[in-house]
Amino acid sequence: MQDFFALPRHELEGLCERLELPLIHAKTLFRAVYKEGLKALSAPPSLPQRLRQTLEDGYACNEASIAKESCSRYDGTVKFLIRLSDGSLVESVLMPEKKRITLCISSQVGCAQACTFCYTGRMGLKRQMSAGEIVAQVWLASQWIAQHPEWLAERDFPSFTKLSNIVFMGMGEPLDNVQEVSRALHILSDPWGLNLALRKISVSTAGHLEGMAVLLKEFPDLSLALSLHATTERERSQLMPINRRWPIGEVLSFLRAHYETRAKDRSLLIQYTVIRGVNDGERHARELIELLVGLPVKVNLIPLNEVEPSRFQGPEPGSLEAFRDRLHEAGLRVMVRYSKGQDIEAACGQLVIKNTPSSDRADRALPS
Ligand code: SAH
Repeated sequence: MQDFFALPRHELEGLCERLELPLIHAKTLFRAVYKEGLKALSAPPSLPQRLRQTLEDGYACNEASIAKESCSRYDGTVKFLIRLSDGSLVESVLMPEKKRITLCISSQVGCAQACTFCYTGRMGLKRQMSAGEIVAQVWLASQWIAQHPEWLAERDFPSFTKLSNIVFMGMGEPLDNVQEVSRALHILSDPWGLNLALRKISVSTAGHLEGMAVLLKEFPDLSLALSLHATTERERSQLMPINRRWPIGEVLSFLRAHYETRAKDRSLLIQYTVIRGVNDGERHARELIELLVGLPVKVNLIPLNEVEPSRFQGPEPGSLEAFRDRLHEAGLRVMVRYSKGQDIEAACGQLVIKNTPSSDRADRALPS
């Protein structure tokens, strides 16, 4: 069986063509699955018998499902534990914000990058996720939103009823899985499907230069986030092994050239996890400002979420403020981002599949 969730619309249109049927059926099917949430592919009554049969014989939506959901008491963030068809587990996180509903998704089971301060990194890479599994996470979250009107009603901005943004900031390094991520992007952004504009989809990378080149060539409008976290080659290589393969100087030169060709309102998101005594000093602020000259950036400062056991600590409030002010005075757009969903271990760097999921102390079952 082929996974329907991994099928871009143009391939479905190819199938219609081979069956000598009008291409409109591909659109009908996309709308039924992604907008109406239908998983029975042969259900839409307008589909011709020949197409129905072909779908029944050869295609099905993969069986990813929500194994567990936890809702933060504080900010309405929902963490989903997703069970993939082979039993592997990944996580995705739904975050209600003032002007958008964002889903943070995973692209790999585990991660190979081994950034020293990241909990997911300690799992190592278990396996790649397929495009269909990446898309299934978004499908599941959209369905969940539709089925939980009380979740939206509890927020004070009920004008939003659907997912509006996707960030590839869950488990994994998306650019280590660039073919599947690219395929998923075609499907997620399809106007007949989930219709998420590429500008509203953000792919975050630890600095995978080769993957960036591939993805930006295909999707120049995609939003990109770079996890920077250090200001010198030596210090970055210590925190993030990927820097030995693609030094940050080379990555930033590549990005400078890319943004020169883009519209003026496009910007690069810089994520900078602030770690006490490691990257939070006056020198680091100065070097960071120099490093980012000439790039249209927004900087998110993320105070480190402490994960046990770790030699790293979050910054002192005073030094975090001083760091932010220094960047601000230099004319950079900068925000301190406190991770959402900390009570349910959904925060940046906390996504990890433990052997004993029942130890999630702060979980609260959602009213069904
Ligand atoms: N591999 C991609 C996608 C992960 S995004 C990337 O590196 O960009 C998750 C973000 O959270 C990354 O910026 C990551 O560096 C950051 N992060 C990891 N561990 C963290 C922690 N303990 N505290 C705060 N941020 C963390």
